Amino acid sequence: MHDLPQQNAEIARRFPDLHPPFASQAAVIEANRCLNCFDAPCTAACPTHIDVPRFIKKIASGNLRGSALSILDANVLAASCSRVCPVQVLCEGACVMHRYNKQPIAIGRLQRYSMDAFHSSHGTLPRKSLEEHPQRIACLGAGPASLAAAAELRQRGYQVTVFDKRPQPGGLNTYGVAEYKLPLPDSLREIKLIEDLGVKFRFGVEIGRDIALEDIGQQFDYIFLGVGLGEMHKLDIPGGDHPAVIDALEFIANYKTGRTTGVQGDVVVIGAGNTAIDAANASTRLGAKRVTILYRRTQAHISAFDFEYEHAKDEGVAFHWLTQPVAVNSSNGKLTSIECTRMDIANDGTLHPVANSNFRVDCDIVIPAIGQSPLVEFLSKLSNVRIEKGRVLVDRATGQTSNPKYFAGGDCINGGREVVDAVADGKRAGIAIAKALEAAHA
Ligand code: SF4
Repeated sequence: MHDLPQQNAEIARRFPDLHPPFASQAAVIEANRCLNCFDAPCTAACPTHIDVPRFIKKIASGNLRGSALSILDANVLAASCSRVCPVQVLCEGACVMHRYNKQPIAIGRLQRYSMDAFHSSHGTLPRKSLEEHPQRIACLGAGPASLAAAAELRQRGYQVTVFDKRPQPGGLNTYGVAEYKLPLPDSLREIKLIEDLGVKFRFGVEIGRDIALEDIGQQFDYIFLGVGLGEMHKLDIPGGDHPAVIDALEFIANYKTGRTTGVQGDVVVIGAGNTAIDAANASTRLGAKRVTILYRRTQAHISAFDFEYEHAKDEGVAFHWLTQPVAVNSSNGKLTSIECTRMDIANDGTLHPVANSNFRVDCDIVIPAIGQSPLVEFLSKLSNVRIEKGRVLVDRATGQTSNPKYFAGGDCINGGREVVDAVADGKRAGIAIAKALEAAHA
């Protein structure tokens, strides 16, 4: 990686922290509220099983380095997870304080407090073994799952190379998370620690185009697949290929990398998942006059978390339910509106268009956020790796695929879940690969 970039000043102004960091005194007061529960439900609710009471107790006693190391032992991407995890439905959702009608402990913000202190003090990731082993592991994709696998293996002394076709590591953490949750430089800062361990990165390398899969197979002892998902589904309606139709992930990546600095006019976002909400909120902050989310079902069916939906409403985003886009209209080359039809839900849950119900929503930009497709073509080239419905099948305990040389984790095995799930998968696979290598070379 090159020198770490600074956050663009204009982006920082438009996307201030959603949950500002704790000041020292507030962090200690919050840490002292924790009951240090035995068999802590917050730890059980965390996919990476961070020892929550342990790290919080260390904050209370002023041992911030110890706190951060305890967190990092479970989750090497703890800084980004402290900011992007849906804590309301994970650790904080499980906190016993709910039983006493009290606010749950602010675990995410406390974790961020420890990790910020660790980064400010130029902390480094510890090795788990000082021995160097010659065995080589390739991690395909530089997203959270691969990074977690790479860190685990490198910490144990193995030689790891991470390949990614993009110019920067981090996957969706770097390119796809709303800037008010995780600024791009903060994602890269955390990954620099993994690079400093000695993990090698090869960016701008597309497997199959720049290097053959067979060559990787010959050069490496094991291969970890952390390739995520493919492109977002296209808006397959007349006019859906207009240049002012831009998919949500591309839109988010564009403003995070400075390619988009402002939005003018009215924006329509199609879909009601968390990515749709991120794109809609970003549009308002980038200057859109009016932002509307269209969704073909009702609020009860949205896949976005409730708190994300509430946040979007607070940002001024409007929602049109039971609305199906049918065409993108333009005039003299300029996008002018999106044509929609009203939908109805029958008793059996099936959707039907309502006859003669077409209407138009005027807009200048359309942002489809209708899910990502699996990397079917790439995955089909992996020899003896079983794929089902576009997902790589793995042994859940180890992440090993049907081809013993391949392990996998993250979105390519689960179809798209949280960053913390990908980290858990990567770490589990890293441990399993290390065990396999130890057994083979004992
Ligand atoms: Fe602390 Fe809540 Fe976890 Fe108990 S459940 S250890 S109170 S954070």
